[in-house]
Amino acid sequence: MRPEDRTAPIGDHVTDDRTAEVAERLGVDPRVLAVLVAAPWRAADGHDTGPVTERVGVRGTVYVGVPSPAELRELDLPADGLRHFGLTPADLRRGGWTDADLRSAGLLPPGAEPDPVAWFVAGEPAQLMLGFDPAGPVLLARPEPRRAGDRPVLDPVDAVEVPVLPGCADPDGDAGLAVRQVRDGLLRRARRRLTHCVVCLRPVHRAATVHGACHGCAGRWLGFVL
Ligand SMILES: [Zn+2]
Repeated sequence: MRPEDRTAPIGDHVTDDRTAEVAERLGVDPRVLAVLVAAPWRAADGHDTGPVTERVGVRGTVYVGVPSPAELRELDLPADGLRHFGLTPADLRRGGWTDADLRSAGLLPPGAEPDPVAWFVAGEPAQLMLGFDPAGPVLLARPEPRRAGDRPVLDPVDAVEVPVLPGCADPDGDAGLAVRQVRDGLLRRARRRLTHCVVCLRPVHRAATVHGACHGCAGRWLGFVL
């Protein structure tokens, strides 16, 4: 699976509690996290969700007219504004910017793939997803199961930006209430898509059933190879 698929495998997650990591990345107390969104959280994307390691860039020739990141900081100019002068990331790199400089300015190095969103999922069955987008605010979404070849994956859909979640300390403050409102809306939509497996009677996502049975039961009792 390629990272840009933004999908997540279902299963093999039960023992993988990443709640502490999610709370730390958000700068939120785990107890506040549990009340604000959900708990526990598990990894949802099948690839490494650790911090992105910066590739070390090589400084090229410094051309006159392209300011260095340090010069920009001294002048208190936003790096983003360079685009208005017609300077692309490629121009900046030719002017001596490293890939790390570009990324720290919120620009994508030429030829680089955008970093994938690190998705976490909560609920059994999955009902809420939380995504760390390296290039944007924290996201909340609801999971939609889908078959990708021979494996079930979760797609985050209806993603909502929740910039007020990181650092939120008071679940009953304005920021906390805003987060919970987003969460509740996503949960309502997610739960409308749940049904019960006709065999084991456990709740299951409608899109993840075969003749009304969850995948486990379809394999065990109905003879489907999934
Ligand atoms: Zn079942």
